[in-house]
Amino acid sequence: MAEIQLKNVTKRWGSFVGVHDFNLTIADQEFLVLLGPSGCGKTTTMRMIAGLEDASGGDILVDGKRINDLDPKDRDVAMVFQSYALYPNMNVYENIRFPLKVRKVAGDHDAMVKRASAMVELDDFLHRKPAELSGGQRQRVALARAVVREPNVFLMDEPLSNLDAKLRVSTRAQIKNLSHELKTTTIYVTHDQIEAMTLADRVVVMNQGMVQQVGSPTEIYDRPANTFVAGFIGSPAMNLMDGTISNGTFTADKVSISGLPTEVSGPITLGFRAEDATVVTGESNANSKVYSLELLGEATMVTMRAGGTILSVKSSKDYRVEIGDPVSAAIPANICHLFDKDSGERLL
Ligand code: ATP
Repeated sequence: MAEIQLKNVTKRWGSFVGVHDFNLTIADQEFLVLLGPSGCGKTTTMRMIAGLEDASGGDILVDGKRINDLDPKDRDVAMVFQSYALYPNMNVYENIRFPLKVRKVAGDHDAMVKRASAMVELDDFLHRKPAELSGGQRQRVALARAVVREPNVFLMDEPLSNLDAKLRVSTRAQIKNLSHELKTTTIYVTHDQIEAMTLADRVVVMNQGMVQQVGSPTEIYDRPANTFVAGFIGSPAMNLMDGTISNGTFTADKVSISGLPTEVSGPITLGFRAEDATVVTGESNANSKVYSLELLGEATMVTMRAGGTILSVKSSKDYRVEIGDPVSAAIPANICHLFDKDSGERLL
């Protein structure tokens, strides 16, 4: 069992606030991903849970017990960093066994090491030194070292960032599988939204030390709480346009969308996703020009300029259009997201 509670957890260095009033309960066996741009406070949050950084305020509880004052070694957490931090003079077997020795874990160490190494498919490499391994294999040694003593909590800080694209995908699947098999509670830090969306039960989106939204990957994608989340999640990010809404019609520059909710009026930011709109060609009143085209394999991303606004719309892969062609975006009212223009908060 490991339910983790963060209550008003804050980290200050002088007047600078790295993490601001973090409040969240992470359920036993949940896979939680902290996602956000560089410097938003992800690693600091993680380090406070691990005990590598003191919280300046707030409480950290595991299964209802406050652990703020416990030494890192007395917290039942295992951490995997982006740098593997393996001992170069020890072979793979010794590296994996190390936490068992240091913590004087009782039981059959040999069997535990073999089980952990088998989980990450390293059985044939136990005699090798880290220098004799590929980056992906080293990363798997670091994972095996974290799982060997079967902790209740895994903390993983960008553990895939040194791997190439293919290894990243396979190791990602392995991590998800390990956390499921070992029934651990996992907190995983990344700035890669694809990693976040594929791994997480819930995602916490952070910016400038503050939690912006907590939700399932689908909730975060379908109902972003504010323009920061809307502009951060999705590839490409949501199109956002400033304009005015009145009687259910939004106008901005050369764009006009009708049929929107009538209860909102005044200046707003309207958002829509590239895949929810369509490109229209051959209209005499086309209001945009094709600015760039990206072939994505399964689709074509058409970026168009409507006056001062740049919009991206996804079309089918065999859509034929050239840069400079006159086009319009057909934007159905029911796929639009409305945000307060000043605060950026979602309105409906
Ligand atoms: P990245 O994705 O780049 O690793 P992050 O979201 O993990 O970023 P943190 O490492 O948690 O970010 O840092 C959060 C903020 O706190 C940053 O602005 C950073 O400069 C600041 N910070 C981190 N450590 C210290 C420190 N020891 N003293 C002062 N400021 C710090």
